[in-house]
Amino acid sequence: MTDLEDLDRQVTECRACPRLVAWREEVARTKRAAFAAEEYWGRPVPGFGPPDAALLIVGLAPAAHGANRTGRMFTGDRSGDVLYAALHAVGLASQPHSVHIADGLTLYRTRITAPVRCAPPANKPTPDERDRCRVWLTQELTLLRPTLRAIVVLGAFGWQALLPVLATAWQIPTPRPRFAHATHITLPATDPAGSALHLLGSYHVSQQNTFTGRLTPAMLEAVLLEAKKAAEL
Ligand code: SF4
Repeated sequence: MTDLEDLDRQVTECRACPRLVAWREEVARTKRAAFAAEEYWGRPVPGFGPPDAALLIVGLAPAAHGANRTGRMFTGDRSGDVLYAALHAVGLASQPHSVHIADGLTLYRTRITAPVRCAPPANKPTPDERDRCRVWLTQELTLLRPTLRAIVVLGAFGWQALLPVLATAWQIPTPRPRFAHATHITLPATDPAGSALHLLGSYHVSQQNTFTGRLTPAMLEAVLLEAKKAAEL
């Protein structure tokens, strides 16, 4: 692995989780009726965004008919509609919609990734699958570290999956900080010459949260604006 482009290419070839490989490929074969004419991606989904990102958004895993169909994080589903609209509203994305991989969307010094790269049944990876996939997030964080200043984690699953990865470069308090919406903590670097990292939490942009009003666009934009400021963007 030499750079982020290489890493993104390598992750799309991964077949380490038999259950998830079978599921992502079955969904790609059977499809949802509305997308019957499309060719599904049906593989692990790499992170999306520039290699010099100062802000990272960490979700959960690709959606079966969203990123598993389009091949780009949060692209082609309702969760992505909410996320990209908010990113555009705060000036971190070039457009409010993310429809397909060639729609011209650009993120500004911002990258989106997930601790699990393959769509899981019922959106629920097992602890084993989460731990197996950690190798990809660890490498991605290592490559982003020189420019990375802030992370927004969408939901408790991503928060718990990310903390062990962060511990390789930043000091994690004991007891470990708990996930909460709008929480914001600063982690000093383990290397005295390294930069501190701002870690923020937001409820996940799942339909379960956005349809019920648990997470509103204004709440999400407030967290993203705080993260943008922390990352000096
Ligand atoms: Fe590989 Fe991660 Fe997909 Fe498992 S979830 S097959 S480790 S990319």
